Amino acid sequence: MTKDRLRGLGYVEDVTCSLCNSKEETVDHLFFKCTYSSSVWTAMLQWKGIQRQPMMWANELEWAGKYYRGRSTTAELYKLVLAGTLYYIWQERNDKIFKGVQRPEVTLRRAITQDVHGRGEIDEARNEAKIWDVCPD
Ligand SMILES: [Zn+2]
Repeated sequence: MTKDRLRGLGYVEDVTCSLCNSKEETVDHLFFKCTYSSSVWTAMLQWKGIQRQPMMWANELEWAGKYYRGRSTTAELYKLVLAGTLYYIWQERNDKIFKGVQRPEVTLRRAITQDVHGRGEIDEARNEAKIWDVCPD
């Protein structure tokens, strides 16, 4: 649960985002607008050849539904990237709060791309060549 919601329930006083320490931690801020998350997203979108800024949560889902329908390799990869990025940002936020550690954006980007590589390999073994084609390095 993000801090703005926890505050609404009376659990926390400080609602400052743990990743940038400057703005209020809402769902849209934490996952998309935060300078930290935004930097990771921008890199992920560029990796997928998508030239635009990250959007808010609702718009991001709408966009995904519109452009990446069905079970094509591109659509599946985009969904993996979307899920992976959200997961890693959430993990990073929790590590910062509970362990006091935060990795640089570049480390997170690398972890997500490696994770997508790994899962892509299992789920889409027959399209392996295509998957490696779209990955960086
Ligand atoms: Zn932030």
